[in-house]
Amino acid sequence: MIEVKDIHKSYKMGQNSLKVLKGINLNINEGELVAIMGSSGSGKSTLLNILGMLDEAETGEYILDGVLIKNLNETKAAHYRNKFLGFVFQSFNLINYKTAAENVALPLYYQKTNRKERQEKALAYLQKVGLGEWAGHLPSEMSGGQKQRVAIARALAAAPKVLLADEPTGALDTKTSYEVMDLIQQINDEGKTILIVTHEEDIANMCKRIVRLKDGVIIEDVKVEQVRAAQYVQ
Ligand code: ATP
Ligand code: MG
Repeated sequence: MIEVKDIHKSYKMGQNSLKVLKGINLNINEGELVAIMGSSGSGKSTLLNILGMLDEAETGEYILDGVLIKNLNETKAAHYRNKFLGFVFQSFNLINYKTAAENVALPLYYQKTNRKERQEKALAYLQKVGLGEWAGHLPSEMSGGQKQRVAIARALAAAPKVLLADEPTGALDTKTSYEVMDLIQQINDEGKTILIVTHEEDIANMCKRIVRLKDGVIIEDVKVEQVRAAQYVQ
């Protein structure tokens, strides 16, 4: 699903440049649930942004579902991004003046789905994340965990091949984090390929594989004995 070959990335800092990724090689198959770990500044978000086509590597190859992601014009890039990728962020990134259902329907609008189907699908995805009753509520009326569920429903609505989540539990308390991870495991069980950036070892242990970055290279890539989040959820 994802093939990364010898990716390098640096940021220009005035006269200097800061090398952030120094030769990343990574293959991720369909159906994997992968945690990307590493200390602050190790390049996790930079890597995830490249995988999410929000940024581009300087050298190396990125092949997503058989498509070489390189030198695409913005229209083509947007097309593949919408078709292949769903995003979840630490700070939810919901639109505050739109209801839960309207937020979830947004990617469908960009996919030119008609209004009726948008409404039906938005409700179905909200039900899937346990928020069917909350369709008409604004984000300001919801808890952090509920907002992240709406964000997950929104990411799923466009039926992406891969879900990319940068610190999805970073703003949540422990119990709520486990509930969100339980949902992420459930979605993975249904076959979705998911990549999560996290600082937390216990969150990473709920994934099937851990990729550890340090100073721009992968220093560890291991399968884990997956811990079910539901064991923690009271
Ligand atoms: P954190 O755990 O704190 O989120 P991270 O592993 O996600 O860290 P990155 O955000 O990928 O780290 O950043 C890696 C390095 O690149 C850091 O030193 C950061 O300051 C630098 N960096 C990131 N984005 C930019 C940018 N747009 N311009 C310049 N430097 C950047
Ligand atoms: Mg980061």
